[in-house]
Amino acid sequence: MRGRKPVNQSVMPSYGRTDIAFERGEGPYLYTSDGRRFLDFGAGIAVTALGHNHPHLVKALTDQAGSLWHTSNLYHIPQQQRLADRLVETSFADTVFFCNSGAESVEASIKLMRKYHSANGNPERYRMISFEGSFHGRTLATIAAGANDAHRAGFGPAVDGFDHVAFGNMNEVRNAVTAETAGIMIEPVQGEGGIRPADEQFLKDLRALCDEAGLLLMFDEVQTGVGRTGRLWAHQWSGVTPDVMSSAKALGGGFPIGACLATAEAAKGIVPGTHGSTFGGNPLAAACANAVLDVILEDGFLDHVVEMGKRVETELNDVASRYPNVIESVRGIGMMWGMKCVVPNGQMVAKAFDHGLLTVPAGDNVVRFLPPLIVDETHIEEAVGAIEACAKEFES
Ligand SMILES: *Cc1c(COP(=O)(O)O)cnc(C)c1O
Repeated sequence: MRGRKPVNQSVMPSYGRTDIAFERGEGPYLYTSDGRRFLDFGAGIAVTALGHNHPHLVKALTDQAGSLWHTSNLYHIPQQQRLADRLVETSFADTVFFCNSGAESVEASIKLMRKYHSANGNPERYRMISFEGSFHGRTLATIAAGANDAHRAGFGPAVDGFDHVAFGNMNEVRNAVTAETAGIMIEPVQGEGGIRPADEQFLKDLRALCDEAGLLLMFDEVQTGVGRTGRLWAHQWSGVTPDVMSSAKALGGGFPIGACLATAEAAKGIVPGTHGSTFGGNPLAAACANAVLDVILEDGFLDHVVEMGKRVETELNDVASRYPNVIESVRGIGMMWGMKCVVPNGQMVAKAFDHGLLTVPAGDNVVRFLPPLIVDETHIEEAVGAIEACAKEFES
């Protein structure tokens, strides 16, 4: 199998990339080395929630970097303890496991839910109900949980134990519950699937079914959490609380960290030796996440997200109504908006790029807007102005 080395494949070609690299960032803007400026309404896929080069985050990271990066979870980590205490204080959860990414936080959630039933003497209850249009990550278990066939193709037999039903269809959910079902996993707003918010009543019905059937309810808030929707956690809008929740993306503001949050009851099977991560919640990652929480939990911060989110909604809807041959509809919540296009979404993302605006494509022919939560009216005007210019060009 040894042939000539192909040209320029030193980075494995697992991504389709836009032909650009950025040199620095400032707030909601990214700059190239030749001075071009882009308004970043993708935020590294909902990661840089406080924008680029945020002074509080830079200080927290550099201060921690100057004293201690990593020790492993063989020892206590005060920064991690503080982060866990704060996450518990501000959520439904009693306890938190730290890892390094979204997929790992979902993987931890799946393991925890299976272990719960095993600890209860019901190891046969290992199956999860998940939803069409869902995305939960790229590990073997999370591609089995997710709905995308292309993500599974060629990777051998899918990890067993995932039953997919239609998003929002309570009858299908009820019919999918068997004596082997361990829990239900759902994104409160489907991100990759095209910014599809779950109905509040649907979440309430899922909670009731889980209580009735002894199932665990898991919310994947990897994309929706950490203030993205205008609440710290998206499910807080509904009043429905899960037993287990995954978080990552914005949690470290750009520094990799993930977390699995759970009630004490749901986590009862997790004892020393059952799960682990070398890096998970190390001093550097935990310091960054604590700094993110410092800002997001400040009085009025989430009110700003809600207010700016309404502006995005109003202004995008206004453009959509004037270009019905280009844009079909606008949907979302907080700072998480999807524009379902009539034209191919990839073409819209490319054209927006040409106008200096970064967006992210999603399923269902949607263009995603995931601006940093710190944007103000002028940034929103600039972004929507760029979309309007694109729509005009599509019409001509
Ligand atoms: C991005 C995402 C993941 C996977 O996160 P990674 O950090 O890429 O592993 C899982 N679930 C949801 C809902 C996501 O949006």
